[in-house]
Amino acid sequence: MPFLSEWVEPALFLDWRGVRVYHCYRDNSVNQGPLVYCFTVCPFCEPGHCCGDCPALDDSRRCRAVFDLRGLPGYAERQRHADLDDEHREFLKTAIAVGSLTAEGVVSSYPA
Ligand SMILES: [Zn+2]
Ligand SMILES: [Zn+2]
Repeated sequence: MPFLSEWVEPALFLDWRGVRVYHCYRDNSVNQGPLVYCFTVCPFCEPGHCCGDCPALDDSRRCRAVFDLRGLPGYAERQRHADLDDEHREFLKTAIAVGSLTAEGVVSSYPA
């Protein structure tokens, strides 16, 4: 039986101060489950594939919408929580509060 793959909106991880952060998925497939450290502020962008229509493209044509949480400033100093998702939510709120993460993507990050 042919399998029709259709686009599914990624799960919203955080919606805070106008910034919506979505999960990224292993092999860009929802069935593979969400990646732990990879997120995107554009639901149409995936790791290694930019929708080409998001405002996150900078001069280097690197998509800023998709990011690795660990690349954001301050990750090493984050507050620890028992639940990793809670920990990451709190950290993302901090990143949004200090302006390193915006609705258009990552503004500043450390090289991996
Ligand atoms: Zn993009
Ligand atoms: Zn996009």
